[in-house]
Amino acid sequence: MPIDSLPMHVRVLCVGAGFGGLGLAIKLRERGERDFLVIDKGDEVGGTWRANSYPGAACDVPSQLYSFSFAPNPRWTRSYSSQREIWAYLRRLADQTGVRDHFRFATEFIGATWDEAGRRWQVRTSAGDLTADVLVSAAGALSEPQLPPIAGLTGFAGTVMHTACWDHTVELAGKRVAVIGTGASAIQIIPEVAKVAAHLDVFQRTPPWVISRKDRAYSPFERWAFHHLPWLQKVYRTGVYLGRESSVPAFILKPELGVVARRDALANLRRSITDPDLLARLTPDYAIGCKRILLSNDYYPALARDNVTVVTDPITTITRTGVVTSDGTGHLTDVLILATGFRATNPPILQTITGSDGLTLAQAYARSSASAYKGTTVHGFPNLFQLTGPNTGLGHSSMVFMIESQLAYILSALDAMQTSGHRRLEVRRQAQDRWSTDIQRRMKRTVWQTGGCASWYLDRRGRNITLWPRSTFAFRWLLRRFDRDAYELA
Ligand code: NAP
Repeated sequence: MPIDSLPMHVRVLCVGAGFGGLGLAIKLRERGERDFLVIDKGDEVGGTWRANSYPGAACDVPSQLYSFSFAPNPRWTRSYSSQREIWAYLRRLADQTGVRDHFRFATEFIGATWDEAGRRWQVRTSAGDLTADVLVSAAGALSEPQLPPIAGLTGFAGTVMHTACWDHTVELAGKRVAVIGTGASAIQIIPEVAKVAAHLDVFQRTPPWVISRKDRAYSPFERWAFHHLPWLQKVYRTGVYLGRESSVPAFILKPELGVVARRDALANLRRSITDPDLLARLTPDYAIGCKRILLSNDYYPALARDNVTVVTDPITTITRTGVVTSDGTGHLTDVLILATGFRATNPPILQTITGSDGLTLAQAYARSSASAYKGTTVHGFPNLFQLTGPNTGLGHSSMVFMIESQLAYILSALDAMQTSGHRRLEVRRQAQDRWSTDIQRRMKRTVWQTGGCASWYLDRRGRNITLWPRSTFAFRWLLRRFDRDAYELA
């Protein structure tokens, strides 16, 4: 049998080798567990930090919060890290912890069906089928590119790239480039493209709020200290964490508290943009925080360049030669960059997991709305755990913190199953409903709901099914251990 072929059965199968899948693998190994596998369609660990390699890709959460608490990274070189540094950290971690044997790359998850008689998941992958007692979905909400439904897109004769599928062989120097979108990915890529393109058209549907990015290189002393005084890095990390956490009330209780960030964003805008017409078009008309607050010092200077045009007339069609807007203008384009985000509220994996009632997760969610008890378990889907499931996302801090909270909960649940000898675990409907009702009640006051914008946080019904509407320590506390009463075990 080839060394990397799939076994017939594993105790735990995890889909996705990003922070979630890697963290799970490390924690399972620490406990002496050997019977588990992590599969990923990519060729390396890293998840979103492997896939999103576009020029300028970086993290808008401080570096100190972008490592596992149990594996601090003394090698950060800046206060905000590039994608390359984060991906290198994850690869190094996979090597140092000796978990690589448990990973199968180039193995795409096709689907899984709960087998009630066997009390296990029947799993189909591109590399063959297997069964698993427990299935963990760590595929992430921001993994499946959202292609805009613009007429004519497939007929475009030039090169089309989504930010999450960057083709590094495509030459942008001297080309006419168009970027559709002005979200978190777009504002990182636009300054890089503007430096080399002959001309860049930026197609903006809604202007984002962009505050200044307090990024700096760490001094030689700081880098020495991270290596030799780990406690100091821990103190630093805690300070950064608490600083971030202090912004939570502005998102969930009193959007008026966003006034300081708003002032910063307007100053950031006015520093570079002087043309009154452009200034007006780049000024958002919704509350700051309603969409993700973006961080950049070079976005507005890029838009002010002579070779960049901000187009705000809506796109009507895409032709063989470029983008046509509602005023009838045809914008000639050689390379079209789609910075149009991800299928965050309806990722395709939901259609491929079929639970004990014969419904897929997508069908179960369609009956009411996406919800998961503690963002992790769903009634009707025994022995299934989701990492970064519904309402676990953050606008202000690090997802690594949320993932670690969920890992502790999942491991505690696995322990409970092992200790009691139960083979089937399912969250009670009432527990899940209570959890979801509480989340949606809290959501009503948040800026995401009241701020007057449309965002990928909301589903088609306008419910926020992506973000966590409380402090991150509340999440950590609520998930500190498996709560047996909320579950049926058999
Ligand atoms: P996004 O925030 O969803 O932005 C998509 C952009 O494309 C928006 O400006 C949107 O306009 C526009 N758009 C979408 N469909 C369009 C259409 N049919 N026609 C015209 N414009 C269209 O996507 P993203 O920038 O990839 O970011 C997604 C998330 O990934 C972020 O919110 C963040 O959580 C994460 N991310 C994080 C980092 C980081 O530094 N940590 C970096 C990149 C991404 P509207 O605003 O009008 O919808």
